[in-house]
Amino acid sequence: MLNRRQFIGGTAALTLGAGLDLKRLLAQGTADADMAFINGRIHTMDAANRVVSQVLIRNGRIATIGDTVPSQGVRTINLQGRTVIPGIIDAHNHIVLVGNRPGWNTPLEHVFTIPDAVAALKARAAGVPRGEFITTIGTMSAMQFDERRLPNLSELDAVDHPVFIIAAQGGARVNSAAKAWFEGKGIAIPSTDGTIAGMPQGLALQMLRRETLTLETRKRSAMDAMQYYARLGITTHRDAGAFHSDEPSTGVANENTNTMHNPFLALDREGKMPVRLRIDFLHQDSPNANPPLPTLSQRLRNSFPFFGDEWLKTGGIGEFTGGGLEGLRAIAKAGWRAEDHALNLAGVTGLIANREIVNAEIPITNLRWIISHIPDFNMDLANRMNAMGMGVLVGWGPTRTGMNVGPPYRMLMNHPIHKGYHSDGGDITVINPWLNLATMITGKNLAGQQILGDQNLTRQEALWLATAANKWFIWEDDIGSLETGNRADLVVLDRDFFTVPEDDIRKIRSLLTVVGGRIAHNDGIV
Ligand SMILES: [Zn+2]
Repeated sequence: MLNRRQFIGGTAALTLGAGLDLKRLLAQGTADADMAFINGRIHTMDAANRVVSQVLIRNGRIATIGDTVPSQGVRTINLQGRTVIPGIIDAHNHIVLVGNRPGWNTPLEHVFTIPDAVAALKARAAGVPRGEFITTIGTMSAMQFDERRLPNLSELDAVDHPVFIIAAQGGARVNSAAKAWFEGKGIAIPSTDGTIAGMPQGLALQMLRRETLTLETRKRSAMDAMQYYARLGITTHRDAGAFHSDEPSTGVANENTNTMHNPFLALDREGKMPVRLRIDFLHQDSPNANPPLPTLSQRLRNSFPFFGDEWLKTGGIGEFTGGGLEGLRAIAKAGWRAEDHALNLAGVTGLIANREIVNAEIPITNLRWIISHIPDFNMDLANRMNAMGMGVLVGWGPTRTGMNVGPPYRMLMNHPIHKGYHSDGGDITVINPWLNLATMITGKNLAGQQILGDQNLTRQEALWLATAANKWFIWEDDIGSLETGNRADLVVLDRDFFTVPEDDIRKIRSLLTVVGGRIAHNDGIV
């Protein structure tokens, strides 16, 4: 790999001559040296679902892909038959919340037993200054552990630091050191097993935010979050916002939505973004506010949609538009994308009816409006949304419980409506794409219960939703599939997604994640 000085001294002159913008190259770092991969099983996810063996990456893009690419004079990596997929696009999650967590936030979405979780926390703590908090906030679930519970106080005491964990779908624990720290601040934790719940849990989170968060710690968390999910194959996140709080909040899903992007913006300015981030703006104006649409009107007046660089870009309004019909009208008039989520049949039916009213006045058919989650959904609703050019985001399965809880993947796959994959993870469920894909394929949640009825997908279909199908939702055509001219976002997997036993899908990781030709994660194969 060339270092930056070698690159500037050598190739930059050529790329300048070729008309590339040197300032942009310096601002964003540079593509790693051109690379060729050979002897792989490269699933392109192109329109023909081609599987090829070689790809040549040049200047951050795919120069050639097929079974014989010209690789003379280029650094060549023999994949030894390993499986390669396009970088995964999570078209709606809460990575910006994860990037603003207090403490040394340590996602635990890749471990499946309590001893492995404790080992991961201990490994993390080894590099952390004495006395500082190790946290896992929102990025784990009790359901994922074979024990079907969270680690308790005595288990977490194996970590020689204060530990505070809050699981998606509820449950929080402290170890003895954390308990002592919080009790020293006046927050009583009466349990003996480390359980902290209700008001004390919120106050503890707020106290930790108040006392430890700085722009520097947030930048560290933002980088850690993006790198953690690069190890799981995500190369593009579309963030769906947070609930706004001016002050440090007691809520896992709350942040200051005016400042929470700052750590990511700082990393982008420094050219350090390991993966791509797309930002949507969540608004919650009351339909009865006076003057109307106090925050949404300012957003539409003072921000730009789809503005930024290839690493970090704004998007639309969501995952709440707020403001009722007037809010939707304002967004349609401004020509922005809009997204709301639906949690039940009545909810999604109401959202669609409102969009039909607005669409009759101000056409939205070219604005790619989205409804996400849709656990309850049917073909009639799909027809009505499709008539307005809308799309649905589905996923968020691993932590759902119940019978036939949807979404109806099979029906959607056979329907012309635009559909894509989202995890919705970061606060109420998990982001790990392999946990989500495993549910879509097996129909089982993290506890092994069947939740999808007859609506499960093939592996090819599930991966398509998380890659090529999400081009439409990101509104970018040059990621999501491995084709000549596209950005070089690809993942070399540690096992073959297409043939491993179903129960092993959840364990898949990346050996090598490349984003725009830059190595974002490398397990030593390059
Ligand atoms: Zn969400």
